[in-house]
Amino acid sequence: MKRTAAMAFVVLASVSCGAQEQGASPATSVPVPPASDPAHETSRPVAVTPTPTGPPPFSAKVSRVTRDRLPYSWKAGCPVSYRDLRLVTLTYWGFDDKPHTGELVVRKTVTDDIVTVFEKLYDQRWPIRKMKLVDAYKADDYDSIDADNTSAFNCRRATGSSNWSNHAYGEAIDINPRENPYVTASGNTAHQNAKKFTKRPTKGKGVINPGDKVVKAFARVGWEWGGYWSGTKDYQHFSKGGG
Ligand SMILES: [Zn+2]
Repeated sequence: MKRTAAMAFVVLASVSCGAQEQGASPATSVPVPPASDPAHETSRPVAVTPTPTGPPPFSAKVSRVTRDRLPYSWKAGCPVSYRDLRLVTLTYWGFDDKPHTGELVVRKTVTDDIVTVFEKLYDQRWPIRKMKLVDAYKADDYDSIDADNTSAFNCRRATGSSNWSNHAYGEAIDINPRENPYVTASGNTAHQNAKKFTKRPTKGKGVINPGDKVVKAFARVGWEWGGYWSGTKDYQHFSKGGG
């Protein structure tokens, strides 16, 4: 209604300069409640913008990552140039039942996979503790895991190996690592705060069990779960093509 009045004003004003006062009058002729009714007066909505009724929809942004964003996780000699990595800034559902914005660095060839999976997880309100670049922990894998941080790229060797980890290629991600620890064949974890999460299946917020929707969502884009490894299990770990 307001818009119509404004448009009428524009049309009239463009026809004749003298019509300005005349044209402006409809815009100001909004019905005013009687002065004797203060309750009505205060409840009259001034703004017509609808109030948000729920969490924002999922959003994701893929951008180039500058060298200075990876002060610890990338160095010369890594198997992938930082120019072939991308920063994915996306919405995730937190342990506090609220939406959050997180950051992940992955190889440019897998950004679609990651966005597809995390959109699904967000829409299902599947909770994630936190999501910062591993550089927030000086690229120390142990510290990042201990803080229950979800992260992807890190130019490091595979645990207990001299080979590059899939994380060094930006083609692996660790999710809720406290609830989903790396467990040796004998059932141990290096993290005290993860001891109660070494068995599967187990219940708990952010826990990944065999056949879970998280596992399925990754499987649909060709990423395998470390929880299916024989012997050692890496319940936090997903990687493109396995390994
Ligand atoms: Zn991993």
